Amino acid sequence: MPRRLHTFRIRLTLIIGGLSILTSILLVTLLSNFAKQQVVRDSGHTLEGMANSVSYAITENLRERAREVFLLSKSNLLRENELTSPNVKERLGIIKSTYRFYEWVGVTDINGNVLSAANGLLEGKSVAERPWFKAAKTHPYIGDVHKAVLLAKLLNKPNTGEPLRFIDFAAPINHPNGSLKGVIGVHADWSWIGSIIQGAIGAEAKAKDISILITNADGEILYPFAAIGKETLPAWVKSPNRIKTTYQADNQTYLLSQIPINTLNASNLSWRVIVRQPLAKATESITQLNQLLIIAGILSTLIFMAVIYHFVSRISRPLEKLAEAALEIGSGNETPRFDMLTKTLEVAHLASALQNMSDSLLTKQHELEASYHSLEIKVAERTKELADLYHLAPVGYHTLDSKGLITKINDRELKLLGYERHEVEGVKPFSAFIHPAKLAEFTDKLAVLEAKLAVAPFDTQLVDHHGIVHTVQISANAVFDENDELLEIHSAVMDVSEIKSLEKELRNQEALSQAIVHTTGVGVLLYQENGTCILANEAAAMMVGATREGLLTQNFHQIKSWKETELYTRSLKALEGEPSQFTLSVQTTFGKQVDALASVMSLHHHSDTLLLVVLKDVSELMKANRELTLLARRDALTGIPNRLALNERVREEFLRMKRTGIRYCVLLSDVDFFKKINDTYGHETGDEVLRRIGQLLKQSVRESDFVARYGGEEFVILLPDTATNEAYLFAEKLRLAIAKAEMPGAGKVTMSFGLVTADLSNENEYFALGRADEALYEAKAGGRNKVVIGQST
Ligand code: GH3
Ligand code: MG
Ligand code: MG
Repeated sequence: MPRRLHTFRIRLTLIIGGLSILTSILLVTLLSNFAKQQVVRDSGHTLEGMANSVSYAITENLRERAREVFLLSKSNLLRENELTSPNVKERLGIIKSTYRFYEWVGVTDINGNVLSAANGLLEGKSVAERPWFKAAKTHPYIGDVHKAVLLAKLLNKPNTGEPLRFIDFAAPINHPNGSLKGVIGVHADWSWIGSIIQGAIGAEAKAKDISILITNADGEILYPFAAIGKETLPAWVKSPNRIKTTYQADNQTYLLSQIPINTLNASNLSWRVIVRQPLAKATESITQLNQLLIIAGILSTLIFMAVIYHFVSRISRPLEKLAEAALEIGSGNETPRFDMLTKTLEVAHLASALQNMSDSLLTKQHELEASYHSLEIKVAERTKELADLYHLAPVGYHTLDSKGLITKINDRELKLLGYERHEVEGVKPFSAFIHPAKLAEFTDKLAVLEAKLAVAPFDTQLVDHHGIVHTVQISANAVFDENDELLEIHSAVMDVSEIKSLEKELRNQEALSQAIVHTTGVGVLLYQENGTCILANEAAAMMVGATREGLLTQNFHQIKSWKETELYTRSLKALEGEPSQFTLSVQTTFGKQVDALASVMSLHHHSDTLLLVVLKDVSELMKANRELTLLARRDALTGIPNRLALNERVREEFLRMKRTGIRYCVLLSDVDFFKKINDTYGHETGDEVLRRIGQLLKQSVRESDFVARYGGEEFVILLPDTATNEAYLFAEKLRLAIAKAEMPGAGKVTMSFGLVTADLSNENEYFALGRADEALYEAKAGGRNKVVIGQST
C-alpha cells in the first residue's frame, strides 16, 4: 500500500467508507430479499388473478357456446321442422356467420348423416364415428381439442402456421315427443381460445413476459401451439389444487399459478389454465431497485467518505502541520512555529507541548553547539599548547625507530645539537651524537630497553654540530607492538651541563657563605622547625655565653633560659610567618650584660621551614641612644626638662588621672618684664637670670613634682596628686621666694602665675595648660607678681 494511504485521514475515511459499503450491502441484501418476497407474493397474486380471469373467460365462453348449441337444439325450428328444410339451413348459416370462430355448424340425423350444414359443408357425409356425435345423442357435449379430420380439406388453414384444430359443441335434437331426432354439432376454431386469453389478460401480460398455457386432463399442453410437444409440464401440474409456486424449466425459474377450468356440465374437460412468468422478469423491478440501492449506497458512501475526510482533515491537518514543523527542524529550520489554528483542545495542547519541547531542545542544541565550539577551540588551543610544550619544553625529546634512527625530535633538542630538522629526522641515528667514550655504555642501555627492562635515567655526553660536548641526562622507555617487537623508543634529553656547573658554583658559594658566617661578628643561628640547630657561628655562641658545640647539640625548644624571654615567643611567631626585630639583654661568655638586637625570621629551604636568629651586640648604640633621648628632653640653658619632656609628663599625668581619678595641678609662670632685663643688663645676664630661676623652682618643688622650661622666660610646674588650695599656697610661697631672691647681675625679679587643676572632664592634656595660660594672662593684666587660679573646666 502506498505511503499516502497510511495517512490518518485516508485510513479513517477508508475504514468508515468500508463500513458504510458493508452496511449498504447488508441493507441492500435485506431490502432486496424482503422486496423480492413481496414482489414474488404480489406477482403470484397477479398470476393467480390472471389465471382466474382466463379460467373464468374460457369457462364462460365454453358455457356460452354450449348454451347456444343447447338452446338451438331445443328450438322449435329444429324440433318441429325437417332438419333438411331451407329454414334450418338458413338458421345454421346465420349462427355460423354470427360467431367468427364457428367453422362448421350442422345437424345430423340419428345415424350420424349430416343433413344440413352452414355453407353445405359435409352435407351427406357421415359423422357417426365422431365422438361429439356419439356423446351428443344422449346429452349436450363439449369436446376436447382435436385436429380437423373431414373438414381439413374443405377449410382454409389459418395463416399462423398452426394446424386447423377444433373444439366441438354438440347437443341432441329431440322431437316434440321427446324422441331423438338428430344431433346438432358446432366446430369452433381453436384459435378462439387465443383470442379469449388475449382478451382476458390484455397487453400488459406480454410486457411482463407472462405466458399462459392450457392443459387437458392428461396434463398435455393444448395452448399455445408453440409449446405443444416441446415442453413437458411437471406431474404436479395435474393436481387438482390451485398451486401457486415456482419451478425450473428451460434453464430458468418460473413463477407459476394454475387453476382448473370447470365447465359445470357433463362434459367436464378437466382443463387447466397455467399462468407463468419468468422469476427474473417478475423480480426485474427488484433488480432495478437493487441497482438503484447500490448506486445510492455508493453515492451515500462517497458523500459520507467526503464528509468524514473533511472532518478528519480538520483534525489531521493541524497534526500534519505539526509533522511539517517537526520536519522543518530536521531540515535545519531553527524557529519552527507550532502555533496552528485549531479548535481541537488535544491538538492545541500537543502543539504547545511540541513548541515548548522544540524551543527547549533548540536552546539545548545551541548550548551544545556553543560548548562544542568552545571545546573545539580548547582542543585546538591544547593541541597547540602541547605542540609548543613539546618543542619549547626545557627538555629535549626524540623518538627512535627500532633501528635507532631519529624519527621525531623537538626544537629544544635540535637547538642543543645545533642541527636543522631535515638534517636529523629520518636521517641520523641518535648514536651518531653520543660521545665516542660513552657509546658503549649507551649501546648497553639500549640493549636493556630492547630486552623490555626498565632503564633508570642515566648521564651521558653528546657532541653537538660545533663539537661542543654536553653532559645530558637521558630518560628513555620503549614501546612494543602486539608481537612484542620493538616499535619505538621515546627519550627525554636534559642538558645538565649547566646544572653541573651550577652545582659546582653552589658548592663554592656555600664555602664562601660558611666563611662569612663564621667570621662575621654577628651571631647567626639556624634551627629547623623541630628545634634542631643546623648552624651556629662563634659570634652567636659568644654572645649568649655558650660554646658553638653546645648550641649545635641543644634543641631550640629545650633551652630553658630562652623560654622565658622574648626571644622564644618572637621566634615562634616568626615560624608562623611574622618576622620581627627587637632588643634583648644577654649575658656574654665574659659575664658581661650586653644589649643585643635580635632579628628572627623564617626561611623556606626545599620543603623545610627554618628559623634564622641573628644577634648583634648593640650595647654601644643603645647607650648613645639613651643619652640622646635624655638630651632631647633637657633644656640646654637651664638644665631642667624642656617642653618635649613636659609634654610627655603631662600626658602621663593626664592618663593616670583618667585611670585613677587622681587629679594634678598645672602652674604656668612667666617672668615679669623680662625684656627689660635683657635690654638693661644684656642677654647673657638674662640667660643667667633664667638659669637661676630654674634652679630656684627645682629646689622649691617636691620630688614627685615636675618643673620644665616651657619656652622663653616661661616655666611650668606639675603638681601631681595636689589639691587646688595646696597648690595655691605653694604657688604663693614660690612667688614670694622668687621675688625675694637676688638675681645675679640683675637685682630682683618677679613672676606671675596661672594655676589650674586638671579635671577628669578635660578633653586632653593640653586643656589645663590652656586654662593656666588664660589665668597667667589675667595675673599679668592684674598687675603681675600674682597667682591667679583659672577655671578647671
Ligand atoms: P611681661 O611682664 O609682660 O612678661 O613683659 P616681658 O618683657 O617679660 O615680656 P616679653 O614677652 O615682651 O619679653 C620676653 C623677653 O624675653 C623677650 C626675649 O628676648 C626674652 N628672652 C626669651 N628667651 C630668652 C633667653 O633664653 N635668654 C634671654 N636673655 N632672653 C630671652
Ligand atoms: Mg615675661
Ligand atoms: Mg613671656
